Amino acid sequence: MGPSSLLQKKPHAVCIPAPAQGHISPMLKLAKLLHTKGFHITFVNTEFNHKRLLKSRGPDSLKGLPDFQFKTIPDGLPPSDVDATQDIPSLCESTTTYCLAPFKDLLANLNDTNSSQVPLVSCIVSDGVMSFTLAAAEELGIPEVFLWTASACSYLGYFQFTKLLEKGIIPLKDANDLKNGYLDTVLDWIPGLEGIRLKDLPSFLRTTNPDDFMLKFVLQETERARRASAVIINTFQELDHDVLHALSSYLPPLYTIGPLHLLENQVNNKTLEELRSNLWKEEPECLEWLDLKEQNSVVYVNFGSITVMRPEQLSEFAWGLANSKQNFLWVLRPDLVLGDSAILPTQFLEETKERGMFASWCPQEEVLSRPSVGGFLTHSGWNSTIESISYGVPMICWPFFSDQLTNCWYCCTKWGIGMEIDNDVKRDEVESLVRELMVGEKGKKMKNKSMELKKLAEIDVTNSYLNLESLIYEVLLNPG
Ligand code: UDP
Repeated sequence: MGPSSLLQKKPHAVCIPAPAQGHISPMLKLAKLLHTKGFHITFVNTEFNHKRLLKSRGPDSLKGLPDFQFKTIPDGLPPSDVDATQDIPSLCESTTTYCLAPFKDLLANLNDTNSSQVPLVSCIVSDGVMSFTLAAAEELGIPEVFLWTASACSYLGYFQFTKLLEKGIIPLKDANDLKNGYLDTVLDWIPGLEGIRLKDLPSFLRTTNPDDFMLKFVLQETERARRASAVIINTFQELDHDVLHALSSYLPPLYTIGPLHLLENQVNNKTLEELRSNLWKEEPECLEWLDLKEQNSVVYVNFGSITVMRPEQLSEFAWGLANSKQNFLWVLRPDLVLGDSAILPTQFLEETKERGMFASWCPQEEVLSRPSVGGFLTHSGWNSTIESISYGVPMICWPFFSDQLTNCWYCCTKWGIGMEIDNDVKRDEVESLVRELMVGEKGKKMKNKSMELKKLAEIDVTNSYLNLESLIYEVLLNPG
């Protein structure tokens, strides 16, 4: 058998994440795992993100391997060289409207036996919010699996939107409903989310417009999920069993494969191990600083890749941290603050110079794994949440939008590993919650709970790995 016929025997997965940091990273981890299990991989980024990845990691960083290649498609937005997060609703609208044609062209090129040196595409692994890809898989008659990169509890929340519309609970009657207590309404009919309030569900229901694009997008993506051959969620059974049980009635076969960053240890190729997906340049110096600090003595502050805040909110966080008298590592993304770049008060910098460390982007998983990190002030993005859970780090949650509200609610009320900070953040609350987290009685309880979940994550990773194998044999290698 010659090398080209050997190549034809390999299964070929085309992996396409939604074009945002919290989606690219888990998809890359999954792609590496599939490669380890013998798949040829084509990983599809948008041109915009491909450029940013090259910029942050250097020109050789996306070379990949002969059987792990990167390709690009345009995202449909006007070209831009800005090194910042794109507007999420615009991105959802443009990908859903414009990306199918270039994606199909890419698949046709990969499958062109005259010019292509790769095996025929045998399956698609698409982000759960890139459902336009289903049409391409259906045309080729190959399986398509969705990777849902947000939490299971938020997915269950999104599946309630249809019922909320039917019951006339959404859209909101008028803008006052955002502040008059209406969002405190408890929804008592959702198994798996008992006691949840309207305000804890993903933020895209906060509209008075029945034609709001994001509202319609949620309905479209949840409806289309039923057409996928299977759905993967980056979680583990022990963490989310009730929600997963409830979710299974809305979805095709569900595979929990997570925490993906723990599973990544199974990747057995040096080049791929070193392949990272950060859109900003990492500043690893903060790790050395963390290693000099005592166990559980540092609060790590990071609001992810999308959250933005007003300058006065930045200032409240700063003074709250200063007044708490705790050590902190604060990651200030260059586009975190609206308007001007993040300017911290000189007096604050002076007061905290012995116990504060700053970075613009960090290797977060390595930060969270450091023994000196005792707590995480987070925006409650799902990747950050599951990373924090698997390193046993309790959280203060300041959710910004989307699924983060549901993740925050779940952390605070169900898992007992989080405390919420008011959206209208004030320095006194930051100070007292940071103290409570780091040295208070409640903080201690949360730490114990977090350590229990960390152990469960480590045990359950074996089941997640078995689920990956089942997914491969039951779905990805099964054309019927
Ligand atoms: N991240 C990182 N360094 C940073 C900030 C974030 O590596 O300084 C990673 C983090 O580990 C996580 C992802 O970026 O995997 C952020 O995803 P998440 O779902 O938490 O939030 P989003 O950015 O989507 O709001």
